[in-house]
Parts: sequence; C-alpha cells; structure tokens
Amino acid sequence: MTAPSAMDPVEQAAGAWLQAHDAELVDFAVRLIRIESVEGPASPGRPFGSGVAEALGLVVSVGDRLGLETLDVDGYAVHARWGPPGEDVGVLTHVDVVPAGEGWSVPPFGGIIRDGRLVGRGAIDDKGPTAAALFALASLVAVGAPVRRGLRLIVGGDEETGFQCVRHYFRRHPYPALAFAPDALFPVVFAEKGVLDLTLGGELPAGPLVRLVGGQRPNVVPDRATAWLELPPGHDAGRWLEAIRSAATRYRARIEASAAPDGRIVVESYGVATHGSTPEKGINAASQLLGCLVDGDGDGLLDPTGALRFIARAGKGLHGQGLGIAERDDVSGPLTVNLGVLRLEGGELRATFNVRYPVAIARADGLVARVRERASEAGLQVLRADDDPPHHVPRDSFLVRTLLEVYRRETGDDETPPLAIGGGTYARAIPGGVAYGPVLPFSGVVPHEKDESIELDHLRKLARIYAAALWALAR
Ligand SMILES: [Zn+2]
Repeated sequence: MTAPSAMDPVEQAAGAWLQAHDAELVDFAVRLIRIESVEGPASPGRPFGSGVAEALGLVVSVGDRLGLETLDVDGYAVHARWGPPGEDVGVLTHVDVVPAGEGWSVPPFGGIIRDGRLVGRGAIDDKGPTAAALFALASLVAVGAPVRRGLRLIVGGDEETGFQCVRHYFRRHPYPALAFAPDALFPVVFAEKGVLDLTLGGELPAGPLVRLVGGQRPNVVPDRATAWLELPPGHDAGRWLEAIRSAATRYRARIEASAAPDGRIVVESYGVATHGSTPEKGINAASQLLGCLVDGDGDGLLDPTGALRFIARAGKGLHGQGLGIAERDDVSGPLTVNLGVLRLEGGELRATFNVRYPVAIARADGLVARVRERASEAGLQVLRADDDPPHHVPRDSFLVRTLLEVYRRETGDDETPPLAIGGGTYARAIPGGVAYGPVLPFSGVVPHEKDESIELDHLRKLARIYAAALWALAR
C-alpha cells in the first residue's frame, strides 16, 4: 500500500477549483469534439487543414480566457504556459483525430453526452485529455501554486499522421525538462516498442483481379476492404462466387461476393477496426479479403507470382511469422504486424504494414533486410521503410516514480505496474518523456474505434490527476 498522505493544500485548492469549473471543462471537451479535425488539405498558416486549425484555435482562446500565456506556432502546434522562466514541466496532447469510420450510433462529431459519457471521435484520443490537461494547468494558475518550474501544455495538430507538429514546434521551443503525454495508458508507460511502417509493392501480371482497396492508415486495423474481378471469357462467375464464399466460410470471415450488372465480381470484406499496435483485438478486413481470394481462386488465375499469397500470409501472421521477423523480448513482448493499407490499381500492388518491434532491437534495419529477402521470392520489393526506434525511460527515474505515486494516490490502484507497450505513443516526441493515461487499466477503452467515448467522471478524474502530477513535478 502507498502510505495515505494528508492532502496537500495546493492540491486541495486546485481540486476545489476544478469542481467549481466542471461545467466549463465538459463544455470545452464537447466543443473540441464538434470540430472535425481530421487532417485535410494544407493552406497558408494551416498545415493540417481547416479542421485542425480550428481545434488549435479553440485551445488558444480557452487558454487565454483561463489566464495562460498562449502561443500559436505557425499552425503546427500551440502551447499554453504559466510560471517562472527556465525549466518547464510539459504536457503533450493533440487535437487531430483519425477519420470517423463507419458504424457509429451517434454523429461522430456531434459532441453527444449519453448515459454520463461523452461520445465522439477524439473523446479519449486525445481531446478529452487535452481539455483535462488545460484545466489542470489552469487550476494551478487560479490557486497561485508556488511552482519552481514553469508549466507548459503543448498541443499538436498531426499526431495521428506524422508528428510534423512536434518536430516543427521543438525546432523553435526547448524541450520541457520533465514531460508526460496523456495519450495512452495509466499507470505510466516507460518503454515503447519501435514502430516500422513498411511498404511492399510490385507489378502484377494482368489477370482477373483488377482492383483492391482496403484501409486508409498504417496504424489502424482496416474494417473494410473491397476487391473487383473481371473474369476472362468462358469463366463462370457463379463458380467463382461459390469458391470465394466457401473460402469465407472456412475462414469464418464476413465476406459478401456478388456479380455486378457489368459482369464484374465485387467482393466486400468486413472486419473490426482497432489500433494498429494491438492487431489481435480487431479483425483485419484487408488480410481476410486477400486470404479468401487466394484460397477461393479455383482456376489458379489470380496470383501467378505468389505476391498476393505472400501479402495474405504476412497480414495474417500478427507476430511477424509471415514476414519472417517473429521476434520478442522480456520487457516489451512479441513483435506485432498490422496490414494497414492495401491497394491494387493499374496492375500496381502496394501493401503497407505497421510493425511494432521489441525494445531490445535498437533499430529496424535488420528486420527490413529480412523482409526484403523473403518478399523478393514473391516478386515484391520494399518500396519504403519508415523507422521510429524504441523509446525508453528508466523505471526508477524521478518522473516515473512521481507520476506512479500520484496515480496510486488518486485512483487507489496499488497494483498495476508501470507499462512497456506496443508503442509508439506521442511521448516519444520528447526525450525522456513518458505516456501517462488517459486510459485506466481494465477499462476496455480502445481508441480509433466507432463510438469512441469518455465517461464524464473519468474526464474529471483526469483533470485532478494531471493537476496533482503537474504540481508534484513543478513544486
Ligand atoms: Zn492520440
């Protein structure tokens, strides 16, 4: 058990301020969610499009109203700061979101509150936490906390699509001395796997498969994929449909195959979207589709080079078996693979895999070389390899110990250990930074899914935890 300490007066006053400003906190989170801040076409001063610009602008206007010094850094990121110059304690969040996807029970950008939960894209990732962090900071300002370090909330605009926001920001502003990012899990994440986005591709000889479309982003398990087939003369569409359907039955895959009026066969695959770092929690519509196509290819016409079969196997082996890179270590567990984007257009096949590799492997070069060798046997090349190496902070550092203690005190959870995860969280944008919430252990909350939500009580708890943590680190 953590020793129960008499509550610190600053923490107590900040908690009271948060309670008194509860409605404003919820309102801020709702207003953020109502902005469809999916990355869009750039324009001057708006590198990630108008939705992201609007969301960043809202952070600035609310931060100003709460008495913080705000700054818009060329539309890439904004910050809200308070306290003495010199070393800062930083909090890093983001207001961009992944696309809504399908199957929502409420409008994803409606900011709807239902049964005590705020439902909408970004509720838990990362607009709710952004709202909580800004109000946490504001509560310490309001009570005049005698901090020794400055407090700085940094809010980026393209966490989901490339981290340009933080690169741009940290070229112009110093790193905080101590930092956490509320963009993953509690209690605290001290190790993150390396992240490799790997695109394989090649030209397919002309055949019945004319087009494939599945997935939009490497780090999301696709919930939908579609194939179009044009059979050569003399081939019986009915027999092909049957073969594909029976493959789907064998795979227990949700696949619908039908003949279009123009004679094409259209095959739709339905999966379950989830984050690319936990592919086992979803169902990959793209690899399922490929598997059923190559398995249901009775006439042996679809895949003369074996390229499709290779991609299908690579997508199915969630721990790298198909790519020949099934590694693991004791700190961070097994390597994982997500087939995030699949395209066949004009005879060009492209498959982008999101690979998460253990922290014991310092960088991805060796893995890429092994994939290159295997893929070449199926006529495929490595077209692109973007490596983001693992991120590590000592488990016994002041930062990790302090955040863990605040978490234990605020939640009563004395058991859940600090985490090593599939990574890459936003925390890796800051040397020595760690991820700290927002998701509580065993809450079952998974970001990037339909009906993303945050309990209002959870939102309030986040604000309290982050206020206490900022104070503990800055005092
Ligand atoms: Zn996020």
